[in-house]
Amino acid sequence: MRLLIMGPPGAGKGTQAAIIGEHYNIPAISTGNIFRLAITNRTPLGERIKRIISEGGYVPDRLTLQIVIQRLEEEDAKGGWLLDGFPRTVGQVKALDKELEAHGFHLDAVISLTADEEAIIQRMLKRAEIEGRPDDNEETIRNRMEVYHDQTDPLLEVYGERGLLIEVDGMGTVEEVSARVLAALSERLGH
Ligand code: ADP
Repeated sequence: MRLLIMGPPGAGKGTQAAIIGEHYNIPAISTGNIFRLAITNRTPLGERIKRIISEGGYVPDRLTLQIVIQRLEEEDAKGGWLLDGFPRTVGQVKALDKELEAHGFHLDAVISLTADEEAIIQRMLKRAEIEGRPDDNEETIRNRMEVYHDQTDPLLEVYGERGLLIEVDGMGTVEEVSARVLAALSERLGH
């Protein structure tokens, strides 16, 4: 099974991705987590991207693709995966298409978590206090929203046209949302 989960910053993709991954026994791969880990560990990648991330911009496609392709080639990802936070640009969609085609794979579905923008901004500000993510201050959050609408909104149309998009209301408790997501997936995929 090969799935994507999309949605605006703070919509709860990471939380839902972990639940879905566990449910289908596939790794949930988050580019945001990979990047944050690199920053924490002060790796060369981390040093290169920390400023971009703290300002709410996107890591350049070339660098992002290198990281993702490498991750997809690891053993645990051979049988399927759920990608969280990738693709985020039209260029990344094309690169993913190519990668899938090269292996004779296809996407099974793309989950789109929808959310009320002001509510998730408030949620992220709260998260900033708890987790201390460096990109969770108000200015950066507003910038991330803007970048999302500009760069990533168009992807919903692309996957919609391909008939892959499953829209799920992302507002509510974690359990409410995951129940909706799993029900929608099971209906679409028949298992
Ligand atoms: P959120 O969706 O909650 O904003 P993520 O954890 O998915 O957070 O991503 C955090 C940051 O990592 C993004 O704002 C961006 O700077 C960077 N990032 C993550 N995935 C990508 C990607 N596919 N392409 C470019 N930048 C990315």
